[in-house]
Amino acid sequence: MAEHESLEYGKADFVLLDNVSMEEFMGNLKLRFEKGRIYTYIGEVVVSVNPYRAMNIYGRDTVEQYKGRELYERPPHLFAIADAAYKAMKRRNKDTCIVISGESGAGKTEASKYIMQYIAAITNPNQRAEVERVKNMLLKSNCVLEAFGNAKTNRNDNSSRFGKYMDINFDFKGDPIGGHISNYLLEKVRRGAPESLLRSLHIQKDPTAYNYIKVGGQIKSSINDNADFKAVADAMKVIGFTADEIQTVYKILATILHLGNLTFGVDGDVTLIENTKLVSVIKDLLSTKEENVEKALLYRTVATGRDVIEKQHTTQEASYGRDALAKAMYERLFCWIVGRINDIIEVKNYDARVHGKNTVIGVLDIYGFEIFQNNSFEQFCINYCNEKLQQLFIQLVLKQEQEEYQREGIPWKHIDYFNNQIIVDLVEQQHKGIFSVLDEACMNVGKVTDEVFLQGLNGKLAKHAHYTSRKLSPTDKSLEFDRDFRIRHYAGDVVYSVVGFIDKNKDTLFQDFKRLLYNSSNPVLKRMWPEGKLSITEVTKRPLTAATLFKNSMISLVENLACKEPYYVRCIKPNDVKSPLLFEQERCRHQVEYLGLLENVRVRRAGFANRQTYPRFLQRYKMISEFTWPNHDMPSDKDAVKKLLKGCGFDHDVAYGKTKVFIRTPRTLFSLEEQRAEM
Ligand code: ATP
Ligand code: MG
Repeated sequence: MAEHESLEYGKADFVLLDNVSMEEFMGNLKLRFEKGRIYTYIGEVVVSVNPYRAMNIYGRDTVEQYKGRELYERPPHLFAIADAAYKAMKRRNKDTCIVISGESGAGKTEASKYIMQYIAAITNPNQRAEVERVKNMLLKSNCVLEAFGNAKTNRNDNSSRFGKYMDINFDFKGDPIGGHISNYLLEKVRRGAPESLLRSLHIQKDPTAYNYIKVGGQIKSSINDNADFKAVADAMKVIGFTADEIQTVYKILATILHLGNLTFGVDGDVTLIENTKLVSVIKDLLSTKEENVEKALLYRTVATGRDVIEKQHTTQEASYGRDALAKAMYERLFCWIVGRINDIIEVKNYDARVHGKNTVIGVLDIYGFEIFQNNSFEQFCINYCNEKLQQLFIQLVLKQEQEEYQREGIPWKHIDYFNNQIIVDLVEQQHKGIFSVLDEACMNVGKVTDEVFLQGLNGKLAKHAHYTSRKLSPTDKSLEFDRDFRIRHYAGDVVYSVVGFIDKNKDTLFQDFKRLLYNSSNPVLKRMWPEGKLSITEVTKRPLTAATLFKNSMISLVENLACKEPYYVRCIKPNDVKSPLLFEQERCRHQVEYLGLLENVRVRRAGFANRQTYPRFLQRYKMISEFTWPNHDMPSDKDAVKKLLKGCGFDHDVAYGKTKVFIRTPRTLFSLEEQRAEM
């Protein structure tokens, strides 16, 4: 148990609760939040509540307190987890990962930054220049990714609209030598691009002049645009983006803004662009010809048999194409930036034969379970992602426990828990899964509509225990509309509307646009769109759907995490008004549910609540017993611990492993702590 923490701050570890009930859990969480203790453990999991105020707990002195310490020696903190991951990596040569989850605004990205900052602070004691350079680039890459991947939403002024997984590679000395970033599902639907970045381009003083920015709603933001813009530009330079590349980035952002202001009209049966001046601006930004821009916006090349014809868009189709182009350009830009950062930060010239194994700490900052008033394709993907992570959690935590018991020679006890594999299968299984049904519906030759998709689901999943729909359960009040279906997720029920699923899954960008961008005389832009090389008759393969791409990226993410030793940070958002004082009981209870925290405590307690090496245990509790205080004369520390625990009457509640004593119930630990305090 954490030192320097008295009971007035509640229990530093939820496994110490007298009863694992929602009430007690919430009581402890609230008490600690109100006392300014934003971190609490569940075993080795950190539960964090966003304080919404600057906390004086991340400085150099705090770093020193946690450096090299064991988890339970200090009050719960992110630094303790970061240190545990670092120690596992350095002492035991283990790859580790830190999985940070929670809903929007809960503090995931901040947590990931504190973890990176801690790792940067404790590494490279010899100040090697190359390591300093790498550390600087890893930190700077965050700044660039946030500039492009974050946006103000009504839930978070600086919301990450993408999931991020970052590997940090370490050399045999334990110093960072490089890294790699993977990004997942940049949410391009809700807005074209982060307004603060777009605004900072100074294209026009008044941001409301741009439709794509206005769509976002509030313009007022708490972020200082000018300073931020400079920081981003500097960071890009430091990371190693060339001047041409940075220029191209600005040109693309400007193009996206201008595209948003393009309007279409008709003259007789001809569709035309109403503000042709903008086309001229765009053609300059894209280094192409005006007629090419116009043609790509107004026509679509289609192959019918052997013939290739130019089909004119309706104004509606043209608007759809314009928006798709803007979104696709932004997404491609973001992926390209991630790719460029990776080119630069990836470990090069590391010879494992000379330097020993290169080990990895991965940090995953990914959206938590989402339930909105209206849930669509994005929520479906995000919630599927959380099912995958929950499945991984079950496997890893139980596996880890099992391995430790085996190592220590303690019989394994079966733990009962809800295995959510059935829900993962419901989504991703070949042929029968929801993603498969969606892809099938998208490939239909006949009418491709969201309704067809829903019919497909109803046909295939009518008997599935975790699926229902309005059609299947007409009297169910929560299924309000014919377009609704409901998934019973591990974290709770979510009703999704099928509206938009097909479009978002197909995610098509007309080949004409790809060709337009590929044919640009700007080589940076051209390189971003290699598939534009193909003419319409050469485009034979259907591009993979958004669902398939997301599923594949989740499967490889999970494979990557599964071979690492995991640490978890579960973030909770205390209220919706960004207040440091308010702990909204209902709001928090929901999150505790979605994050499966009670289950987590139960799993932890069903095994052994606590384990400590014999010397550590003695160090902490030897004053309790006359046989061990101040020193014992037993043949081993293990014998001494046995004697101590027998003397206190706790012998029945513990198991003695090879190197560690395992304490089953928190009650025992708690009593030990009390006795210790009374000494
Ligand atoms: P999203 O999913 O939208 O990206 P998030 O979980 O990454 O959300 P953050 O951006 O990390 O959320 O946090 C939101 C805001 O909460 C921060 O901008 C900051 O103001 C505040 N905050 C979060 N964590 C802390 C902390 N440890 N100390 C002080 N303030 C914090
Ligand atoms: Mg974030």
